[in-house]
Amino acid sequence: MGRYDGRVAVVTGAARGLGFATAERFAQEGAAVAIVDLDESSAADAATRISDSVSGARAIGIGANVSDAASVEAAIERVVTELGGIHVLVNNAGITRDNLLFKMTEDDWDLVMGVHLKGAFLMTRAAQKHFVEQKYGKVLNLSSTSALGNRGQANYSAAKMGVQGLTRTLGIELGPFGINVNAVAPGFIATEMTDATAVRLKMSVEDFRQANADANPVRRFGEPGDIAAAIAFLCSDEASYITGQTLYVDGGFTLG
Ligand code: NAP
Repeated sequence: MGRYDGRVAVVTGAARGLGFATAERFAQEGAAVAIVDLDESSAADAATRISDSVSGARAIGIGANVSDAASVEAAIERVVTELGGIHVLVNNAGITRDNLLFKMTEDDWDLVMGVHLKGAFLMTRAAQKHFVEQKYGKVLNLSSTSALGNRGQANYSAAKMGVQGLTRTLGIELGPFGINVNAVAPGFIATEMTDATAVRLKMSVEDFRQANADANPVRRFGEPGDIAAAIAFLCSDEASYITGQTLYVDGGFTLG
């Protein structure tokens, strides 16, 4: 018996990184999973990797842009048609366009806001009608330790703190309908996103990971599985009395 037997979980930006690890974890715990990512063939490849690695898993890949309302509506309808419903939504898709304020363009600002904040809004709005109808749903948003402030990330930081406000507000609005809304705020996790940051900072990936490990109390860097485990708990029925919360999963980095 898995915690997610009979459930359908949708994870955005799940062709790789934290989203992929989360989708794989849901599948291991019994859920049918939909991998939503910008590129349909990358999403389909990721779904195949899950079906191949997790015995009995059902996984589909859907190409969609979370910052586009029509694309989002179509993606949610495909999930419901192809997998027979929707119970869990993880708003994980993300991008960075880092720059100091004086060099940050409007495009840098709009793109980051569009994917993280508008994307979470659009996906949740599309899913909630199914959740409300069935009086059951779990929404999990990805925030970040950068929400607390990070040089060169005015756009990303604002979006990730916005995600926390969205999470609290939707917790209030959707709680009476059997829907829990929570967020996870990762610290440094080794993925392609942070590897790209290393390159931008002109550091080797290895040195960048080690520097981040040295900067937190547990003295290691995070792996995608650390985030997947926290999400799998918060979206489970064991966590049904928790809503509107942001859980920092950062090896203690933000403890000061
Ligand atoms: P990642 O490896 O860069 O993966 C992000 C995925 O999102 C990619 O597959 C990307 O597709 C997809 N994506 C981007 N824009 C999209 C859009 N408009 N619609 C649909 N999919 C889109 O990132 P990650 O490190 O796993 O991060 C996942 C989430 O955790 C993000 O929200 C990130 O901000 C957050 N987070 C990460 C860390 C960390 O240390 N890694 C820390 C804190 C928070 P393409 O490849 O086609 O662009």
